[in-house]
Amino acid sequence: MRREIAERAAAFSAQAGRQATIAVVQVAADPSSVAYVRQIEKSFVGAGMGFGLHSLPEACTADELTGLIRQLNADVGVDGVIVQMPLPKHLPQSLVADLLDPAKDVDGITSLNTGRLMQGLGDYFAPATPAGGMELLRRYQIPLRGKRAVLVGRSNVVGRPMALLLLHQNATVTICHSHTAELSELTRQADVLVAAIGKAGMITADMVKPGAVVIDFGVNMVGDRMLGDVESEGVAQVAGYLTPVPGGTGPMTNVMLMLNTLMAAERLL
Ligand code: NDP
Repeated sequence: MRREIAERAAAFSAQAGRQATIAVVQVAADPSSVAYVRQIEKSFVGAGMGFGLHSLPEACTADELTGLIRQLNADVGVDGVIVQMPLPKHLPQSLVADLLDPAKDVDGITSLNTGRLMQGLGDYFAPATPAGGMELLRRYQIPLRGKRAVLVGRSNVVGRPMALLLLHQNATVTICHSHTAELSELTRQADVLVAAIGKAGMITADMVKPGAVVIDFGVNMVGDRMLGDVESEGVAQVAGYLTPVPGGTGPMTNVMLMLNTLMAAERLL
């Protein structure tokens, strides 16, 4: 996919006379956010795409943040904008969700894009992480129609949009969360099991139906090791497919951000 994107980015640059470009807004950089942004920069630059970082201090005001978003909305050299979450407590996420231009919302957080995704209207940007999970399922030709998909996790960035994307592919979808009773009974029914929990190794082999396709979105640092939400050694013995951590859904998020930024750029052109 990186190769495909690099070719498409070169074609865009030749036609437009500029690179398809993402702007990353970062308020109060913490170390994990800095590392993530560095990866985005490396991916974009590596694919011949543009990258700009706009940092604001933790104490910045709502006016400063909205001023920056308005400036990026108006900038014809910027095709995609993402705002690193979470924002400090005094800056509600709705500031961005309601103000960012949906045509530049390449991580699918605006009210318009989330609404269109909810209603299955098409022509929307889905959040990059679940979109990457869906792209893996598509590229590995995993059948979804009529299949039982079970998600553990219902956040707005991963679990919930992934559930909608699976529903749009006619899977029969069950969403589990921290109040779900008899979790293992539900996960064992899954043809496609999705973990987006944030708890290292929580999904164990006894929770997985033999042959199931398991998508692990978890990124948990335990000491210096990155572990998924799935206990991979055991589950790999039972599952038909299992995304690795690191190296599975994580890199796909970057790839989808590049793809969405290119789509935004091509549309603007
Ligand atoms: P959140 O903390 O926002 O959501 C976690 C979800 O898991 C919640 O819905 C919560 O339920 C549910 N949950 C927590 N504990 C349990 C439990 N014991 N049983 C059942 N459900 C439970 O996390 P995110 O969705 O933002 O992230 C999930 C994971 O994905 C994290 O490891 C994160 O680092 C990773 N991630 C990976 C990305 C990637 O690029 N691959 C990008 C973004 C995140 P409830 O709603 O009831 O609280």
